[in-house]
Amino acid sequence: MTLSVAIIGSGPSAFYTADALVKSGIDARIDLIERLPAPFGLIRYGVAPDHESTRKVSRSFDKTARGASLSFFGNVEVGRDVSLDELRQLYDAVVLAVGAPLDRPLGIPGSDKKGVFGSAAFVGWYNGHPDFRDLDPDLKVKAAAVVGVGNVGLDVARLLVRSRAELEATDMPEYAVEAIVNSEITDVYLLGRRSAAHAAFTIGELREMGELEGASPVVDAASLPTSFDDVPEEDRRIKAKMVDMLRGFASLPQDRPKRVHFRFNAAPREVLGGDRVEGLRVERTRVEGGRAVGTGETYGLPCGLVVAAIGYRSPVIQGASFDERNGLYVNRGGVIDAGLYAVGWAMRGPSGVIGTNKIDGQTVAKHIVENLRAGAGKPGRDGLAELLKRRGARPTSYADWGRIDAAEIARARQGAPRGKFTTIAEMLALLETG
Ligand SMILES: Cc1cc2nc3c(=O)[nH]c(=O)nc-3n(C[C@H](O)[C@H](O)[C@H](O)COP(=O)(O)OP(=O)(O)OC[C@H]3O[C@@H](n4cnc5c(N)ncnc54)[C@H](O)[C@@H]3O)c2cc1C
Repeated sequence: MTLSVAIIGSGPSAFYTADALVKSGIDARIDLIERLPAPFGLIRYGVAPDHESTRKVSRSFDKTARGASLSFFGNVEVGRDVSLDELRQLYDAVVLAVGAPLDRPLGIPGSDKKGVFGSAAFVGWYNGHPDFRDLDPDLKVKAAAVVGVGNVGLDVARLLVRSRAELEATDMPEYAVEAIVNSEITDVYLLGRRSAAHAAFTIGELREMGELEGASPVVDAASLPTSFDDVPEEDRRIKAKMVDMLRGFASLPQDRPKRVHFRFNAAPREVLGGDRVEGLRVERTRVEGGRAVGTGETYGLPCGLVVAAIGYRSPVIQGASFDERNGLYVNRGGVIDAGLYAVGWAMRGPSGVIGTNKIDGQTVAKHIVENLRAGAGKPGRDGLAELLKRRGARPTSYADWGRIDAAEIARARQGAPRGKFTTIAEMLALLETG
């Protein structure tokens, strides 16, 4: 009997799960249900536009999507067009691969002021995500603070100081290129609560900060740790390498027109200003037992833009028990409940690299295969298509995505890989044309 599996989402975790199910050899019809007309999740809307080579992983997802047993239902949002309970009635197995698209709030006084953004929103804006294309951040400010010292923080800082030529070679939408190029930002401050030994940068991303055309990294060598005792033993070597690289930055000439300042042991305590952000009050910290502890010494950091890159949460979906504290679905190794699973960021929170999701997909596919051996045989795809039709929804197929993809490539500015459509209406309008 053919088993029907619904995977909610179409980011890496969804595709790796689908691929593992196909490779398991079970007779299954697998449907990817995605709220946007375009697939690939954060590969398209998160990964930095100047890291085009990272996005090439979508080629292998494309191959999976074209497989005989797969179908794509784009422009279908679970919770709006169909509920989780309905999907569970229609499918033998349902997998939550919805990622963690919500910003963890900064949670300090003043963080509701204009000019303070979470990185999901800010990154979504410069990547042309339909939810955020109208964010319209005011970049006519001299300085920006990016809170959080992981790769997302580095992405945001780097893109804010990129030159026109560098940005125009990417698929960053025109509105974002113009806003960044015409911005008055000369200084970006990257703030980490703990010491540099606790920063979550990867070496490759950090190295790029020393190779920017128009900006110099600024590091106070005296602020860097010489001991790594409070870092887990298995991480010490890589953290020491990272701190060495930062030390190398400290001795570089600051000869470029813009600067990215690395500030460690710096915890933002308050967003200053009136209606709009005018600065941050920052407290110096020391690390005790791996945690940042305030010293009571504070200083003001003038800035007109704050981007908090401090983590993400999954959305609450009715029918799936939610772990409020960690912002993800309650699960054991990907199993939420009989026939209900979670993978990727929805399963383990926002950490790791794209490839980490492959292991999740394989694990959950194994659970599905084991649990479904008994056989079920729910209506699956046909039932969903029928329900969506009744509701007047407009699902988009993978062939539709092929048309959007081709049109985006055709309208790219010179030297850029594509010119993204940044509204759902534009994508649907394209599909209406003959
Ligand atoms: C800014 C940023 C940059 C990154 N850069 C890199 C990098 O350079 N290299 C790297 O290795 N990793 C990078 N990552 C990490 C990588 O993107 C993640 O590991 C990966 O995308 C997680 O996959 P996922 O499938 O769990 O979630 P996502 O990729 O977020 O996919 C979730 C999908 O579910 C859809 N969805 C959500 N809710 C619903 C709903 N209710 N109904 C239907 N569909 C829904 C979303 O639209 C989305 O398409 C980056 C992450 C971020 C945030």
